[in-house]
Amino acid sequence: MGPDCYCDEVIPGKIEVEVLAQTENTLAFRPPLPGFGTDHVIVIPTRHVSSLLDLDDDLALELLATVKTVAAQAVDQHGGCQVLTTLGSEQHNRHLHWHVAVGGESPVS
Ligand SMILES: [Zn+2]
Repeated sequence: MGPDCYCDEVIPGKIEVEVLAQTENTLAFRPPLPGFGTDHVIVIPTRHVSSLLDLDDDLALELLATVKTVAAQAVDQHGGCQVLTTLGSEQHNRHLHWHVAVGGESPVS
């Protein structure tokens, strides 16, 4: 499932990120190297959770509220965005993370 730069670097503050929103147990930030679309925000729980499938209900609500906060900012500023999380073989970092991305490649829908 790949590395965990969130527990290793972001949460302990070893790399500097632009924080957009924060709650007791969640963090939303712009990654230092944007990789997805023209504006890319990552939302994570600040304690280790492997994926959406391991997320407990209380933290799910708190995390989704933070996703909603940054998604609303993206819609206000850019008119729209994608919100997604990856699982299994498509998850390249073994810490649950949500992407809120503007202008990224759209999935077939
Ligand atoms: Zn982790």
